[in-house]
Amino acid sequence: MRRVLIVDDDVVLVELLEAKLKKNIDQDIDIIKAYNYKEAIKTILNKNNPVDIAIVDLQIPEVKDGAVVDFALRKEIPVIVLTSNLNKELETSLLQKPINEYILKTGANSIDQVVESVNRFIKNFDVNILIVDDSKTQLLNAVKIIEKMNLNITTASDGVEALDIIKNSDTKFSLVLTDYNMPNMDGMELTVKIRELFGKDQLAIIALSINDSPEIPTKFLKIGANDFINKPFSSIEVHTRINSNLETLELFDKIKNMANRDFLTNLYNRRFFFESAKLVYEKSKRKNTTIVVAIFDIDYFKKINDTYGHDVGDVAIIECAKTLINSFRKSDIIARFGGEEFCVMLEDITVENTKKLFEKTRENFNKIEIVTENGEKFGFSVSVGVCYGIRDSVEEMIKVADEQLYQSKNSGRDRVSYDISELRREDEKF
Ligand code: GH3
Ligand code: MG
Ligand code: MG
Repeated sequence: MRRVLIVDDDVVLVELLEAKLKKNIDQDIDIIKAYNYKEAIKTILNKNNPVDIAIVDLQIPEVKDGAVVDFALRKEIPVIVLTSNLNKELETSLLQKPINEYILKTGANSIDQVVESVNRFIKNFDVNILIVDDSKTQLLNAVKIIEKMNLNITTASDGVEALDIIKNSDTKFSLVLTDYNMPNMDGMELTVKIRELFGKDQLAIIALSINDSPEIPTKFLKIGANDFINKPFSSIEVHTRINSNLETLELFDKIKNMANRDFLTNLYNRRFFFESAKLVYEKSKRKNTTIVVAIFDIDYFKKINDTYGHDVGDVAIIECAKTLINSFRKSDIIARFGGEEFCVMLEDITVENTKKLFEKTRENFNKIEIVTENGEKFGFSVSVGVCYGIRDSVEEMIKVADEQLYQSKNSGRDRVSYDISELRREDEKF
């Protein structure tokens, strides 16, 4: 859990900021609030619970302007500075401090700006960047600037080393910042080689070069770089370019996710289930292993909707998704097929274990308890149809599972029915 410290004597602003941060930050965060100098210092000095980032008002009563900012910086805590007035002199002095950012409180969307800035900072804990430059001085300079962004930095001294790291380390890089002129392999060749491995939507490349020939940036972009920065660069420029490229990558990810996942539960959707299930099916057929296709359907779901409303029905669907995720392995494919119907595919499992697993899962569904806004509590059950073995196609296996589901529904619901065929297909016997 990341810890965010807010230091400001303006109680209303602190509350508002806290609410917005909680709502809009994608990860779990712990927010600590300090309304004066003493509280702020106490939190900063608490070694048991180190602060990851501090949002600090420049003007705190009873101490000189910037006292808390300076204190946090001395303790090497990244700081976003809030200020209600900013004259030239103050701005110059702020820019000389190693702060992450300063935001004017009077700005129209200042709170949103703070939230965005914290969000980026927290996300960066998990983002890996590779910086490539043959000049040690330039490399150190870039590292110093980028360190403040909280990214995980790896360095390389030429294209050959960079490519080796990208290919052979376990780290998944989101961004490569590369110099152009380097011995062994220059930035252009490196860009071409990276593009043979990763698309622009998977790994962003930002090229750096001295601005002496105007055709270099164009050429870089043509061969697959995402962006270009002229040397010498300011730290703000590098921050902005890196952030905007990371945001674009995230957007690509989001779009890919939207196409593959169901909006309500974030499980895979029907289309993606077929796509990935077919791959598993083909592999399983080649290796002569078994697969299981199962369909889950909530019992009397219409009644839940009718009694408690559609929103509560949605909560039940979300709980189902959670139960399925907790009941199966990470490698199993779990999808929402539509409405209150879910489909899973597992591979390489015995009949005995299949029966144990599905019986246990059915019981896990019985344990769900939903509490409505009015304090009413209810539970529900599911009926399940299982097709075990391997049949002529994924579609065929789904059809068989569906028939078994009907069997479960007709024989009283809250049960699992199986169609088990351990026989190999005729044409694979010899
Ligand atoms: P059975 O035990 O036979 O499965 O009965 P059932 O009521 O669960 O099944 P039925 O197929 O008759 O009704 C399913 C209902 O699910 C009908 C539909 O309005 C509702 N539904 C479909 N999609 C959603 C959704 O995304 N959210 C909610 N809340 N309801 C949905
Ligand atoms: Mg149903
Ligand atoms: Mg149904």
